Amino acid sequence: MTDTIFAKIIRREIPADIVYEDDEILAFRDLNPQAPVHVLFIPKRAIASLEKAEPGDAELLGKLQLAAAAYARELGMAEDGFRTVINCNTHGGQTVYHLHVHLLAGRHMHWPPG
Ligand code: 5GP
Repeated sequence: MTDTIFAKIIRREIPADIVYEDDEILAFRDLNPQAPVHVLFIPKRAIASLEKAEPGDAELLGKLQLAAAAYARELGMAEDGFRTVINCNTHGGQTVYHLHVHLLAGRHMHWPPG
């Protein structure tokens, strides 16, 4: 897999506003926020996209979602609600090929997305 901007953030080669970290996950604020809270939850072990994820990645994928929900709870935004999104490949709008979960919170989300 080619190196990505997120790999550089994990290695602290470029700065990011990190809000959560554990052995497997790093979370930091999106550079171009689409909601009052817009945080990216990424696995430290890179997977290029959801399409490339394998059965052995199932627990890690669950942990990313749970970490996002826990952070929304910590901010007091879970009860009002939030959205998690994984964009996959070109039609999904993925631009960084290091799988990540977007956490969006702090405003009413619309459906369907554009
Ligand atoms: P995608 O479009 O791949 O689902 O999401 C990539 C996200 O990464 C975008 O929302 C974009 O704003 C964010 N992003 C891209 N480069 C950087 C960066 O260098 N730092 C941070 N914090 N976010 C970035």
